[in-house]
Amino acid sequence: MGGKLVQHDATKLAQGYSRAVRTVEVLSIVSFYTLVAAVAWRGFPYALKAPWLALAGLFFGYLLADFTSGFVHWLADTWGSPDMPVIGKALLRPFREHHVAPKAMTLHDFIETNGNNCLISLPWALGALFMPLDVEGFGGLLFFTMTSITSMIFWVMMTNQFHKWSHFEPAELPAVVRWLQRYNLILSPDHHDIHHRAPFDTHYCITTGWLNVPLMRLGFFRGMERLVTALTGAIPRKDDIGLAAALEVAPLPDAPSRVATHTPQH
Ligand SMILES: [Zn+2]
Ligand SMILES: [Zn+2]
Repeated sequence: MGGKLVQHDATKLAQGYSRAVRTVEVLSIVSFYTLVAAVAWRGFPYALKAPWLALAGLFFGYLLADFTSGFVHWLADTWGSPDMPVIGKALLRPFREHHVAPKAMTLHDFIETNGNNCLISLPWALGALFMPLDVEGFGGLLFFTMTSITSMIFWVMMTNQFHKWSHFEPAELPAVVRWLQRYNLILSPDHHDIHHRAPFDTHYCITTGWLNVPLMRLGFFRGMERLVTALTGAIPRKDDIGLAAALEVAPLPDAPSRVATHTPQH
């Protein structure tokens, strides 16, 4: 692309990882594992009675995780800035850091790798745990939903691990991980490489990457961006790559009246 990329400073972004964020991450991980274990305990007797439904739910959850990883990644790459209160430091900063220092995540420990995803999964884990299952005529559907949600959040939690592995050199990885990557059962390095080319506007799904091509063909993320811009006037990727480069990806024909001056329309 021709427009000059204006990105954040990697060192400053790395320094934004505060003690408060780390405490939240530790609490999120402990709560997440406790809740998922409780849901598994609750669902186990039902899974014995309907094993195929349980397997279907687990697989559907894997697909949902890939979609969720793409949607959350797109949200965090495209909108907002690390300077925003609360979510800026906790959720947006790592995404900005990852584009300017992609290898930095390979040095992150278990807590920094998994804390974020455990945090965003907590409401879903609570929902699955307290979902009613014994409703006359809907038992199968409710069990499938509970299994899908639990599988989804489990694989969403694993997503940062899969993503992290895609940034390691192959020689640094266990043979089983390389095997899973080669057969695209988890995110492969070659596939994920496509996302890391400026302006970082495609291939957001990072669990398996299976949904990247279908979503691109549907124009899903470009359509969502046009919708958000129409509603709010925000310019996608402005904070990540700078205004000029961002406008090159998502030009706004009517920008002067709506975005720059906010002239009231009558
Ligand atoms: Zn990204
Ligand atoms: Zn990456």
